[in-house]
Amino acid sequence: MKVTVINPHGFCAGVQKALDHAYKAKKEHPAQPIYILGNLVHNERVIGDLVKDGFIILDERKKSLSEWIDTLNKGDIFVFSAHGHDPHLDEKAASKGLVCYDATCPFVKANSTLIKRRITQGGEVIFIGQAGHAETEGTLKIDPSKVFLFEPKKSFDFSQVSAKNPLLVSQTTMGTEEMKDSVSLLKDHFPEIDVAARVCDATDKRQSAICTAPEDIDLYVVMGSKTSNNTMKLLELATAKYPKAVVLRCLDVEDLKTALVKPFKHAALISGASTGLREFEEVKDYLEKL
Ligand code: SF4
Repeated sequence: MKVTVINPHGFCAGVQKALDHAYKAKKEHPAQPIYILGNLVHNERVIGDLVKDGFIILDERKKSLSEWIDTLNKGDIFVFSAHGHDPHLDEKAASKGLVCYDATCPFVKANSTLIKRRITQGGEVIFIGQAGHAETEGTLKIDPSKVFLFEPKKSFDFSQVSAKNPLLVSQTTMGTEEMKDSVSLLKDHFPEIDVAARVCDATDKRQSAICTAPEDIDLYVVMGSKTSNNTMKLLELATAKYPKAVVLRCLDVEDLKTALVKPFKHAALISGASTGLREFEEVKDYLEKL
């Protein structure tokens, strides 16, 4: 099968940094268990590799991050995930004497800094995001009485915001189109709104690249986990832009082997930001040999 690779692909800088933090912790404390608080990155294969390498994942589906911190003891070493977290957990971990490696992505950190500054100045913040996503949940906890969640295509209670010029910030992995629509709607209600909402570079570049695939493709493979917001946005966009192609998502080559792809002639291949180059090359080789 002919395969057209869509760039960029592989880990984004934020995911690579998060992995570097985890392995740095292991190198600096070889005799101690290293705990990962929540999903370090949104990719089950990467998490599986971390488990194989001896990391202990504290699964946020079983307990909240705060409850997991309660189970750790003075001197224990843990890593915060790339997506950000409730800032009160930093104080909690410090007061327990835990050793923290903070793998929060710089894009997420930059948003938190802006939000905290606005709140300190007495202002309010509207955050465009998805309920339940780690980045959004962590951001809302900065100050639930001052940070209001706006979910695209969902109803929003405008009366809860008292500021004339709230600061507008967004989850870093939103779809660029839904962001534009949301910003425009919010500007109608708050003409003086201070717009600092933007998706991160890795998300923006991948979303722009998705429609650079050749017109004659009959298969579009998007690699990534369904827990990865930027992967799911790529899937949505590929489906909308290439209606004549079959659009599939897979985590890795074993996952792709469960789909019937042999009859296709020309595939485009892209990955979300939490998929590594090794997994990407394995899928590319598999498709090319069909
Ligand atoms: S997708 Fe963007 S926000 Fe998320 S880790 Fe990568 S660079 Fe950071």
